Amino acid sequence: MKEGLFFTKLENNEVRCELCPHLCRLKNGQTGICHIRKNIGGILYSSVFGKAIASHIDPIEKKPLFHVAPGSASFSVATAGCNFNCQFCQNHDISQVKNIADIENYGREMPPEKIVENAALHHCQSIAYTYTEPTIYFEYAYETAKLARKKNILNVFVTNGYINPEPLKLISPFLDAANVDLKSFHENFYRKLVGGKLAPVLETLKLMKEFNIWIEVTTLIIPGENDSTNELEQLARFIKNELGEETPWHISRFYPQYKLSNYPPTPITTLERAFAIGKDAGLYHVYMGNVPGNETESTFCFNCNKMLIRRHGYQIVNMEIDEGKCKFCGAECYGIRM
Ligand code: SF4
Repeated sequence: MKEGLFFTKLENNEVRCELCPHLCRLKNGQTGICHIRKNIGGILYSSVFGKAIASHIDPIEKKPLFHVAPGSASFSVATAGCNFNCQFCQNHDISQVKNIADIENYGREMPPEKIVENAALHHCQSIAYTYTEPTIYFEYAYETAKLARKKNILNVFVTNGYINPEPLKLISPFLDAANVDLKSFHENFYRKLVGGKLAPVLETLKLMKEFNIWIEVTTLIIPGENDSTNELEQLARFIKNELGEETPWHISRFYPQYKLSNYPPTPITTLERAFAIGKDAGLYHVYMGNVPGNETESTFCFNCNKMLIRRHGYQIVNMEIDEGKCKFCGAECYGIRM
């Protein structure tokens, strides 16, 4: 147990956690919506600090981050828990652990120093805080990120964006990039299928831009829930107008799972429609995810339209970028360590 950051003591030993927009008010002994932050005697504690439930060496492309050190390895870690309860979660076995006793015994000891040591040992250019939700293990990610920065290792979040501005501001000097799930442009979707609100996610995205964090956006397209032309246009317009035309948009194919196992997979025609909407909105880079072998998983120069990075799945087959510039026309290829 480690004392948490961002909480206020209230009367009768109650506390309010101010890490994420849920702002859980907890009586002595209670845990928050994320199930991993607990009030013990009027102090808020994190029950997952230093306890990695998963750690793998992944291609950075798997996050997906296509414009951050392409072709490099990313040391990827997670703890149990999440502040959302997505009905379509791919990792619900580790994100939705509800019993704090299980959580305290879950995962193996891996202090921040060990994560950084492992990342360096395996020549990873980045540490990815991923699989579940890094916001809820903020203290662990923050301590690790500060150490990683000293070793010139990048820090990247794969996140739902449900974090309050103050914690985001604190970690922002050490956070190089984030892939943010923008799951829908409707509050109703967030209420019904996620257990959160849209507005704070939009705020997080704008703040990340302001803090100079490289952003890539992912939208999982679920048939009948967020696939209308109108909604896809709203999403694409928001990315273009608020985050910039250079911000990559990953539109990802849904496969039936967890509580939405009765839904069909996203038709390819829907993804093609979303792709066209993104390009029509003026986005430089739109990628179709979970559709192996499609040409949109490669990166094209926004200026001359030549192929700059040929990908096959998560593998880089060929790169035509020289010091962050297109080898053909010299236009900038936006991102980090391109
Ligand atoms: S981080 Fe957890 S305890 Fe804190 S407000 Fe969010 S859900 Fe509640």
